[in-house]
Amino acid sequence: MRNYNNNILFSATDLNEFIECPHKSFLNFKNNKTPLQKKADDAHSLLLQKKGHEYEAQYIQSLKESGYNIVEIPSQNTLEKRVEMTLDVMKSGADYIFQAALLEEPWHGFADLLERVNKPSLLGPYSYEAVDIKLKRTPEPSHIIQLCVYSDLLKQYQGETPFSFSLILGNGEKKTFQFSDFAQYYITIKRQFEAYASLPTENSLPSPCSFCSRCKWQKLCDEQWKKDDHLSQVANIQQSQIIKLENNNIQTLESLALLNSAASIPKLSEQTLNRLKSQARLQYNKRKTGKNELELLPPSEGRGFARLPKPDTADLFFDMEGDPLYVPDGLEYLFGFYYFDNGNHIFKPFWAHNKIEEKKTFQLVIDFIIAHLKIHPNAHIYHYNHYEETAIKRLASSLGTRENEVDNILRGRKLVDLFKVVHDAIRTSEPGYSIKNLENFYMEKREGSVATAMESIVVYDHWKETKNYKLLKQISDYNEDDCRSTYLLQQWLLKLRPADTKWFELANEENSEEKKQGQTDAERKKELYEIALLKEDTEDDHPFKELVAQLLEFHRREEKPEWWSLFDRQEKEVDELTDDLECIADLTPSLEKAPFKEKKSTVYSYCFPPQEHKLKTEANWSLTNDVKRLGTIHSLDNEERIIGLKTTHNSLPKFFSITLFPSHNNKPLKEALYRFADSIIAGTNRYPAIITFLKREKPQIKNQLPNAPIIDNNKSIIKASINAVENLKNSYLFIQGPPGAGKTYTSSQIIVSLINSGKRVGISSNSHKAINNLLTSIEKDAKEKRLLFRGQKKSNKGDSEFKGEIIKNIFSNKDLDPTSDLIAGTAWLFAREELD
Ligand code: SF4
Repeated sequence: MRNYNNNILFSATDLNEFIECPHKSFLNFKNNKTPLQKKADDAHSLLLQKKGHEYEAQYIQSLKESGYNIVEIPSQNTLEKRVEMTLDVMKSGADYIFQAALLEEPWHGFADLLERVNKPSLLGPYSYEAVDIKLKRTPEPSHIIQLCVYSDLLKQYQGETPFSFSLILGNGEKKTFQFSDFAQYYITIKRQFEAYASLPTENSLPSPCSFCSRCKWQKLCDEQWKKDDHLSQVANIQQSQIIKLENNNIQTLESLALLNSAASIPKLSEQTLNRLKSQARLQYNKRKTGKNELELLPPSEGRGFARLPKPDTADLFFDMEGDPLYVPDGLEYLFGFYYFDNGNHIFKPFWAHNKIEEKKTFQLVIDFIIAHLKIHPNAHIYHYNHYEETAIKRLASSLGTRENEVDNILRGRKLVDLFKVVHDAIRTSEPGYSIKNLENFYMEKREGSVATAMESIVVYDHWKETKNYKLLKQISDYNEDDCRSTYLLQQWLLKLRPADTKWFELANEENSEEKKQGQTDAERKKELYEIALLKEDTEDDHPFKELVAQLLEFHRREEKPEWWSLFDRQEKEVDELTDDLECIADLTPSLEKAPFKEKKSTVYSYCFPPQEHKLKTEANWSLTNDVKRLGTIHSLDNEERIIGLKTTHNSLPKFFSITLFPSHNNKPLKEALYRFADSIIAGTNRYPAIITFLKREKPQIKNQLPNAPIIDNNKSIIKASINAVENLKNSYLFIQGPPGAGKTYTSSQIIVSLINSGKRVGISSNSHKAINNLLTSIEKDAKEKRLLFRGQKKSNKGDSEFKGEIIKNIFSNKDLDPTSDLIAGTAWLFAREELD
């Protein structure tokens, strides 16, 4: 927001801030009249800005080196001059315009880049689209809004809004979006903002949100919350809980602390309310007495202290440091372990200063853990909060290494997150539950020069520039302090733990020796195939053969996150499960529907509160606090909110939550992949179309001249597509386009034409919905052309059935007639060998 010719000019930032927090807009307008005190940029924010500029410069340099003509609009000029220069460069038709200034009062903006595209406009046979360069690795809503503002501003210069805009992400990826996909939301929110700007509110109160920690007005809001004794001061309270309390006239920490024990709050479970009340009370008492207080929570099965395994003298205490600003996609640069050997404490750091080292170091870390656990099978790895576990999972999958070992560590529940123990076992008078808050109870004050994770990122960056090893030592000391603190926390919790609490023990069939053996066998089989595939590879076909080797265990890799989520759910509270789409939370027995028998099982009916979920009938289910399949969902009425659970168990708990239980029968898919690999090893040409596709070769079409377009723009796209498909030489044709481009229509026309000329057609997709959509279009076209044919669709009973007139559903593979003119089904159908 800036003053301009006696008016206010708005920018994309103003609009984004209005979306994020209306109070921020209130303060922005206030500040525009009388400057307010902003939070000063800390070292981390300055580093972020510096990295952003460096990345921008690096990207611009790469464009220059590729031979593009880039014109920069100098920023020292006035806004008018910059706008005028931008327009001149647009008229000259440069490939890129860097720091382009755009203005249409009351909006203005400085786009990182304008990119020339071959779409005619008022400027000539070309136009420009906005491009923004971001350090982030994934697009955020604010990036999209920013680009919508630039696209909107471009309209006046070239006659119409650009078709799309792009983001260059921190990992080098370019993501392009269509303006029309966001236009409606953008226009609505822009209008709302303009309406607000024409008459800003006189008063507003801050409400904490996820944007506060990086907000320039945080200091002001913090002061306000302290003054108001706002509920956000209560440790671990969520915004949704604050709203529910405020709606019931509980506005302050004090009023929550002193709340009547019999009070209840609609839509807030009794358990959550009690937790918040006693948290508020402990903090309130500390205010009065100045003393730290602690209370133990009532034991809860499988939670709190029950998560602690029996301690072992060889337990490891683990902490990681990462640099999210490392280009292209972050770097985990330090893995630290603290442990005891013959009574002597050891700190073992593993460093990685670039991406190649990160992979090697990660392998060393996992090998160290596996070797340590082999010698000390009862040891565990302790850490605080989820960063370490999440990073390990991410590294194993993104680096494609030590996946099996990481899976065994996770399934063996060898990682122990002490935050989860603390969360359900104790309550303290501290205003937060970071490990630094807890250290007030069990550790002397830290003395290291690096005090926070943010500071460690800044110091690490400083080291990269100076190579001053004293800086690495400071980070290493900080990491050692964190590891040691984790050890002392475990010791403190062991002292607090009630003596009659059972130690956590792994009782899970999923980690059985049989299962582990199965995984090891699968891994070994894959390794043998990999050796055979790559034995006689050439430089040309190496990427293809490596890809085939990677595909072989694709399904096993895909299944892992589902299992990990199942374990994660065991930690969640009812409120969190209610927000989890894979669960139905807070079930209570139905008073109207009595249990009934169905064959050897019983169907129990339960009611559930309003919530969104993805559960469907016939899906497998388990309790959220267990990882055993208990049965299938017999019936589900989302209107009445009643679920029928079929199980062979004689009884079910009274109150519980359920989750989908993974039901993978990927055997046919896995076998098909191995069949394909066999054919490659044997050198047969059994699957030529797949080979061409995986090698990324061009489709092979009879009479097609090299480098000539497959579809001639001067001919009908339908006719040209039919012609191309009919002339394919054991190859493939890829049809691509945005929603509404006519892919389904074109495909159905091609399919009907193929059937008409006596060809048999197979149709497959990841979802039944997509298949059924195409089948509907095929039937419509066939009827119009009076074509009779025989078609079968392999469906499951229920939602996936096709409701057509010509194509018949079959529910069993044995009913399949391979001589049908059309066969449709998911990959499970086409993976069968008889359909090869
Ligand atoms: S600190 Fe939070 S509540 Fe205050 S203005 Fe910023 S985002 Fe809004």
